[in-house]
Amino acid sequence: MKELGLFGLALPEEYGGLGLTMEEEARIAMELGRTSPAFRSYIGTNNGIGSSGIVIDGTPEQKEKYLPRLASGDLIGSFALTEPEAGSDAGSLRTTAVRDGDHYIINGTKRFITNAPHAGIFTVMARSNPDIKGASGISAFIVEAGTPGLTLGKRDKKMGQKGAHTSDVIFDNCRIPASQLIGGKEGVGFKTAMKVLDKAACIFPLSPSARPNACWPMHWRLPRTASNSGIL
Ligand SMILES: Cc1cc2nc3c(=O)[nH]c(=O)nc-3n(C[C@H](O)[C@H](O)[C@H](O)COP(=O)(O)OP(=O)(O)OC[C@H]3O[C@@H](n4cnc5c(N)ncnc54)[C@H](O)[C@@H]3O)c2cc1C
Repeated sequence: MKELGLFGLALPEEYGGLGLTMEEEARIAMELGRTSPAFRSYIGTNNGIGSSGIVIDGTPEQKEKYLPRLASGDLIGSFALTEPEAGSDAGSLRTTAVRDGDHYIINGTKRFITNAPHAGIFTVMARSNPDIKGASGISAFIVEAGTPGLTLGKRDKKMGQKGAHTSDVIFDNCRIPASQLIGGKEGVGFKTAMKVLDKAACIFPLSPSARPNACWPMHWRLPRTASNSGIL
């Protein structure tokens, strides 16, 4: 998958990606949807939610540092917005990021995070201004796996998409440099997250919607096979 360039399909060419248009990416998502959803999920976060925050709002230094390795697949990116008490209503998230000199200290739990067990970096939305209860108190950060204070929960057991791995991501006094604030700007992290999800909302449904097309020919073959073996 690395050799095919699949991890960088949608990333800009200047950072080593293939720079596909939305339509081209959508066509590939539909082709991958005819296989196992796990394949699209594995490359999906690098092309979408795990990189878009940096592509759209990152500083030049953040783009230079992370995008080439995301595009090559040497680094897996994840997107950590959802929490046990904040799903659809993501603006009410409770994870905090408290400024401490040249650092932020992050505390909280993120839930259902796709590719967390494989991720090298997480785009994390956290409340940097506790006085503002709504979305404008939220900032977005890049947190590297292996940072002390960042641990993962057990892999979630799901009814389907078992090859697409999700888990909790837990921050316990996780200290990160202030330079990891996306775009270097506080209070705009929720906007970043919504821009990321705008794009994802166009691509996400395509793979599952391609699945029935792949199953249709099997549907026609099945009765004939069963009949031949004397079952029907
Ligand atoms: C396989 C999988 C992968 C995921 N990957 C990621 C990831 O990588 N990163 C990430 O941050 N999150 C991820 N998520 C989380 C996902 O974004 C959330 O599950 C989603 O936002 C819904 O939140 P929730 O599960 O808490 O459901 P809830 O918000 O509790 O919603 C439950 C139901 O109630 C409905 N509902 C909610 N509020 C209202 C309302 N006001 N009025 C009417 N109906 C309402 C919803 O439509 C839904 O049907 C993933 C989830 C899954 C299942």
